[in-house]
Amino acid sequence: MREHDDVAYAPRVNLRGRPLALVLAMIATACRPPAQPCAWPVAGVTVVRDGAATLVRRDLEDTGALFTPSLPTDDTYRAFRARVRADGAELRRPTADRAPPADDAERELWRREDLNAELVLAGEAGQLRPIRCLEALTFHRARESIVLVLRRDARTRIYVGASDQMFPPKSVYGLDQARADVAAGWRLDVVLHNHTVQRRGDRVALGVPTLSTGDVSLLRNVATDPGLGEAWVTNGVYTAVVPATDFRRFLGRD
Ligand SMILES: [Zn+2]
Repeated sequence: MREHDDVAYAPRVNLRGRPLALVLAMIATACRPPAQPCAWPVAGVTVVRDGAATLVRRDLEDTGALFTPSLPTDDTYRAFRARVRADGAELRRPTADRAPPADDAERELWRREDLNAELVLAGEAGQLRPIRCLEALTFHRARESIVLVLRRDARTRIYVGASDQMFPPKSVYGLDQARADVAAGWRLDVVLHNHTVQRRGDRVALGVPTLSTGDVSLLRNVATDPGLGEAWVTNGVYTAVVPATDFRRFLGRD
């Protein structure tokens, strides 16, 4: 770059009289490259097909924006966020309709679900943070998906299991594939899944951002074999991040 061009690229702000740290921060902001768009960096390979359900694998040298706060700009995700905001449902502590428990067993189940929610919401286990790109890309408001993130040196392998039903069949969970990968030197860092949108009267409510009682037993097994770093549960707006070392604090179904 020629010398006089530098002037054109300097931030056009009056820096006189400002503290040095502030000046440096302003220059850093002016020079920061634009945020990368939230999108899959590569196309996936379908490794299992079970009716309408699929398990798709991606191998990445560069994960792009996947693990950043950048969010998808597609109409479906934007419309979901707009609806949640319009319904006043963008809450860290979601409130959804719940039918009165039919019997003692159901009352006990809700007690356990509530305790699991409170662990995360009170900051006693794991943490709740705003959703990021990978979670938003794989989020569906009415259907759950399961996402596995494995790493080996600088490489990242991601499996996404999904179907046209609310819950995908176990054949596309990717756990057998992950076990084989771990045996080959990979590390299973994350199991991510989403909790679907609930109702509050005629408004939407977010799913509960925590491990459900049903999640707990599955994830404990995964933490034992093949081993797991963290579970992530997203409701499309917030994501609970729970390290496997905290799983023992959550309640399962038995
Ligand atoms: Zn769940």
